[in-house]
Amino acid sequence: MTQNRNEPFWDVIIIGAGIAGLTASIYLAQAGRTVLLLDKGSHLGGRAASTEIASASVNLGAHALYKSALPILQEAGVIPTGASPKAPVMFVFEGANGGNKALPLAQLLLGSFLTWHEKTQLFRFYSRLRKTDTSALHKVSLQAYLESQISSPRVRNVVLALVRVSTYCDAPDLVSAGAVIEQLNHSQVMYVDGGWKTIVSQLTEQAQKGGVSIRTSSPVREIAGSYPRMTVTLKDRTQLRTSYVLSTAGPADTLAILNPSLTPTEAAVYEQLIPVRAACLDLVVAGMPQPKTKFVLGADYPWYYSNHSTAASLSDNPKYAVVHVMKYLPASIHSDPLQDKSELEGFLDLIQPGWRKHVVQHRFLPRMLVSHAVVTAAAGGLLGRPGPAVEGRPGLYVAGDWVGSEGMLLNASLASAKEAARSIISGKEQDKEGMHRGA
Ligand SMILES: Cc1cc2nc3c(=O)[nH]c(=O)nc-3n(C[C@H](O)[C@H](O)[C@H](O)COP(=O)(O)OP(=O)(O)OC[C@H]3O[C@@H](n4cnc5c(N)ncnc54)[C@H](O)[C@@H]3O)c2cc1C
Repeated sequence: MTQNRNEPFWDVIIIGAGIAGLTASIYLAQAGRTVLLLDKGSHLGGRAASTEIASASVNLGAHALYKSALPILQEAGVIPTGASPKAPVMFVFEGANGGNKALPLAQLLLGSFLTWHEKTQLFRFYSRLRKTDTSALHKVSLQAYLESQISSPRVRNVVLALVRVSTYCDAPDLVSAGAVIEQLNHSQVMYVDGGWKTIVSQLTEQAQKGGVSIRTSSPVREIAGSYPRMTVTLKDRTQLRTSYVLSTAGPADTLAILNPSLTPTEAAVYEQLIPVRAACLDLVVAGMPQPKTKFVLGADYPWYYSNHSTAASLSDNPKYAVVHVMKYLPASIHSDPLQDKSELEGFLDLIQPGWRKHVVQHRFLPRMLVSHAVVTAAAGGLLGRPGPAVEGRPGLYVAGDWVGSEGMLLNASLASAKEAARSIISGKEQDKEGMHRGA
């Protein structure tokens, strides 16, 4: 092992410089802790990084910032600019003769596709949403809940399309109805100017201003010990000493680097998590054949189409727009990436016939990890998620989109990062140590 005598003793070492790691580092630095932030990648931001493609800033798949995330970002000193997509929504249904049919929302509500009874069901479901008591629904699957509320399969599919766009999750049989309803009630989003990399760069600036030390290309291969003497070992065998470790590396990666490992009972809560994935086709386009078609969801299919440039400034070239096309992947079945890509191209042929001529550059990301965990009814919904404190390992905390009892997606990463930082600052372990010494 490399014992570098020049390495200081850190108050906190954070593994992972995505949004969770960066945010936690800012809270900790604000409270006067010395913080080292490590990432295995060569750049910061994790899944919130955006790439320059054809002089446009393109997120890793469609990213929309929930406005409920703004208070924590603002506490961390970040004020994203951008706007909410105002596009009229279109829904795609399976047509009678095997073809597909795209219907604007207005036509769906006013035309003859849905019966009067179906329209009433849809209206009643949405008008009751804010008043729904979610406390009794955390352990109920969305599928069971919808079947108890809506008899029409077509109306259920419209609701499921809106659930997918708010949660990225296509697992109605698994996901908690309570968690989904809470998410639908906070579904106001904005597309961020310059892409999510602007959030990452503002967080980085705040972290650096606060005195956080940041090291990229620093993969962690082991976390050993417990509070107040923990050791983090890098792949190059450098050993770093600290009182606390906060891992934002994801459940499987965190378990893999713990020495000693958690007991099977302690590890079970992490091992049962089911990831949420999406196949993403990201396009930089020069115009589109149907410019008024800006936002389309599959009702009978797990598809998404949105022109993000209608709400956010993403390219210096006024002729270019960033369009995200996506398939929400099923939780348990491993779908074929080639088939997913051709399915998305077929979706584009339906809603934007002739689209290929407009593509400046494209990128296909076949199995993006959107979130480390479906919020399942079986685990008791949001309250069933682990952490931030790791049971049986004093001084070790986790944060991410799979941690804590608050929110989904980035909101969960932010809320758990804040909670982990708060717990470390409040120093519960210190009190316990004092009690043990005193005893
Ligand atoms: C296609 C797609 C669409 C999405 N859309 C939305 C959306 O619309 N709205 C929303 O709120 N969220 C969305 N998300 C989710 C959002 O991007 C993530 O929840 C958020 O970025 C997670 O941040 P994080 O810091 O928790 O994790 P990550 O960004 O995954 O960061 C973890 C970091 O840990 C590092 N790491 C891992 N292991 C090690 C190790 N051993 N040593 C050192 N470093 C390590 C990784 O390199 C990484 O940088 C989307 C995600 C995807 C992929």
